[in-house]
Amino acid sequence: MHTLVIGAGLAGLTCARALLRAGHQVSVFEADDDVGGRVRSDTHNGFTFDRGFQVLFTAYPAARRQLVYPELDLQPFDPGAIICEGGRRAILTDPLRDHDPAAVLGAALSLVIGPADKLRTLALAAEFRGRSVDELLVGPDEPTEAFLRERGFSRAAIERFFRPFYGGIFLDRSLSTSAKCFKFDFKMLSDGDTVVPARGMGAISRQLAAELQAAGCIRLNTRVVALATEGERVTGITLADGSLVMGDAVVVATPAPEAARLSGLPMPEGFVGTTNLYFAGARQLYRGKKLLLNAAPDAFVNNAVLISNVAPSYAPPGMHLLSASVLGVPPLDDDELFRRALADLRCMFAGDRAALQVLDSYRPLRIYRIPYAQFAQPPGLHPGLPDNRSGRPGLFFAAEFTEASSINAAMISGEKCAAALLEGSP
Ligand SMILES: Cc1cc2nc3c(=O)[nH]c(=O)nc-3n(C[C@H](O)[C@H](O)[C@H](O)COP(=O)(O)OP(=O)(O)OC[C@H]3O[C@@H](n4cnc5c(N)ncnc54)[C@H](O)[C@@H]3O)c2cc1C
Repeated sequence: MHTLVIGAGLAGLTCARALLRAGHQVSVFEADDDVGGRVRSDTHNGFTFDRGFQVLFTAYPAARRQLVYPELDLQPFDPGAIICEGGRRAILTDPLRDHDPAAVLGAALSLVIGPADKLRTLALAAEFRGRSVDELLVGPDEPTEAFLRERGFSRAAIERFFRPFYGGIFLDRSLSTSAKCFKFDFKMLSDGDTVVPARGMGAISRQLAAELQAAGCIRLNTRVVALATEGERVTGITLADGSLVMGDAVVVATPAPEAARLSGLPMPEGFVGTTNLYFAGARQLYRGKKLLLNAAPDAFVNNAVLISNVAPSYAPPGMHLLSASVLGVPPLDDDELFRRALADLRCMFAGDRAALQVLDSYRPLRIYRIPYAQFAQPPGLHPGLPDNRSGRPGLFFAAEFTEASSINAAMISGEKCAAALLEGSP
């Protein structure tokens, strides 16, 4: 049995590796110059740049099955966040998990989020820890904001914390994303650590790809332009150079728009994007490993982090790397993007003269514009997502769009697709 996999993102790699381990012949065709799809990192002058700010939740069930965590040298964030608003910075943390006494004390004294909301957050974490993922996700869906209101969270908590924090996760501050996504992510945040690998998020993809590359199964810089068919059955693929490759099964492991183009089948259409800016300097902007959230209603930068505080290996010795995330892809040139982001970062540190001096010494390094970062996930979308079996003989899907938009979902899709192929039915 020879399976052709189109795309070497996390889903395609997970599927292909499972097939290889089961003794099947598998060939992966990747249009780009390296594996990883949306989970890639670049290195330059001793800096590591993830292609878009992105994190791994160690509690992700599929990541626990698929990855060897110790080999990734995972570097954890501190729980909670620093909320920046109106010239003030307030610490929000989980007192049960934060090892920094100053952060716990600061959070206890902070009035940015009131005590009732802090208790509601702790209660939700305790409730979700005691329930399985399946239990959490049954029942009707609704927008995240409606769920938060039902659970009694105040307007202040929603505006100051949930909107920027989950805006950064969903890449959309409207909190109109499915509450199922919120519940799952909230549980993952409560059940484990939030981390990046010491060598960048791309190390996740490289680990998944290693066995396949050693077996010579991956062809980079190889775009698939069409599926080959005999009647209804998909029998192979056509590459950009016009050559035809025949196989027993074809797995489309691309983002949804390309899967729709190749297969002619309907796929989820909405999407969200982001722009990631990097700055660097010789002085440390702030201490600790917390994410900075911009609670300003007109925020340009949604969230930022001195990522070299979390993973010192992201910057060369004596340097610090600041990662700032803007939601969407504003139609601005690089200079204007850096200028607007820096102006917003200055607002986030307003009143802290020492931090502002440090910020002014940082130089802009790099920008990633990512128009298609995740497919949009409004309430009620997930039950109608495509199946791993396309319904056409010989054609399968392994991609986030069969599950949800996340690292975990992409891996689950890869696992399920491999299982479907190994079962042997169309
Ligand atoms: C900036 C950003 C932040 C994110 N943050 C998080 C986060 O913090 N946590 C989280 O869990 N998830 C996050 N995600 C989502 C997560 O990264 C994705 O859900 C996941 O990586 C999707 O994997 P995939 O394999 O389905 O698709 P992809 O990674 O898109 O892989 C598809 C592959 O197919 C290739 N391809 C496309 N067309 C062709 C063709 N015609 N021929 C050959 N190859 C082709 C592409 O080059 C690509 O390599 C984020 C994503 C982005 C971009």
